[in-house]
Amino acid sequence: MAARLLDGNAVASQIRAEAAPAVASFTAQAGRPPGLAIVLVGNDPASEIYVRNKLKSAGEAGLRADLERLPATASLGELLGLIAGLNRSEPHDGILVQSPLPAGMGGDAEHRVSDAIDPLKDVDGLHPINVGYLVQNRATLASCTPSGIIELLERSRIQIAGARAVVIGRSDIVGKPMALLLLHRHATVTICHSRTAELPRIAKEADILVAAIGRPGFVTPAFVNPGATVVDVGTTQVSDRSIVERMYAAGSKRRETFERRRSLVVGDVHPDVAEVAGALSPVPGGVGPLTVAMLLKNTVTAALKRAGGAG
Ligand code: NAP
Repeated sequence: MAARLLDGNAVASQIRAEAAPAVASFTAQAGRPPGLAIVLVGNDPASEIYVRNKLKSAGEAGLRADLERLPATASLGELLGLIAGLNRSEPHDGILVQSPLPAGMGGDAEHRVSDAIDPLKDVDGLHPINVGYLVQNRATLASCTPSGIIELLERSRIQIAGARAVVIGRSDIVGKPMALLLLHRHATVTICHSRTAELPRIAKEADILVAAIGRPGFVTPAFVNPGATVVDVGTTQVSDRSIVERMYAAGSKRRETFERRRSLVVGDVHPDVAEVAGALSPVPGGVGPLTVAMLLKNTVTAALKRAGGAG
């Protein structure tokens, strides 16, 4: 059996198309487009690619999108100062600080940053106020990646209410909001992490299994209930040949891509899972484009809310 592939690109296009009328009417009424500021600290190569994609996609959707860069040597104080300025900036409705931040900024830098962003402009839903709204199931701005996964599941007619859902990973940006969004849609949710005992057995109970850990090929068929829906969030740039060989057969397209580029973006889900799962959101082509589409949608929502309209 080969799993039905859940097409993140197609759903992302739908979301962008649905946002277009709101972008046009906001622009006409406000005399300016919805505005997004993306803050990039340092030169992490993966972050450079993510940020470029987000800026391009926002520009194509008719949004104003500005990149604010700081060097890797910048202090946390400088970053917080930049955020304070963006909070006051009239044309910016959304602020996204690309993670990870340089280690030199300190262990609590991510929390200091999410605390500092105006909750009305917090398009990744990380401010404690927005997290609180999410817990209470009244969020208007929820983290982009898990929100995109919900869109993918619902538009692919995957039944969430009553389903057993297992989320592997408990980060503030993916695992925890994912679990809450599934819970609010009436799934029975289990969250797993690095200390979970008997993880494959628990994962195998899932009707919906979301893997968000950053461990290439970690989820093998042994983790998957036959027919289950599997969503791969993991996105790891791999240059270690042994990992690629463990995941992809010689002569396969993915191996050819690796030979050409000497690196490959791989997910947490081993490709053999496609033989067991009923539906699969793959890497690449699954969650990544949805994250970008939800960032645009959240920026439009923030713009409307700031202007006093429907959010
Ligand atoms: P993170 O903050 O590093 O969190 C990873 C989580 O995985 C932690 O909760 C950790 O458990 C858990 N974990 C690590 N090793 C594990 C193991 N062996 N068994 C069980 N759990 C384990 O990562 P993140 O920000 O959530 O991102 C996760 C992955 O998704 C990454 O590959 C990231 O690149 C990708 N991602 C993709 C997108 C996209 O748009 N495509 C967006 C965001 C993230 P502990 O809490 O116990 O340490």
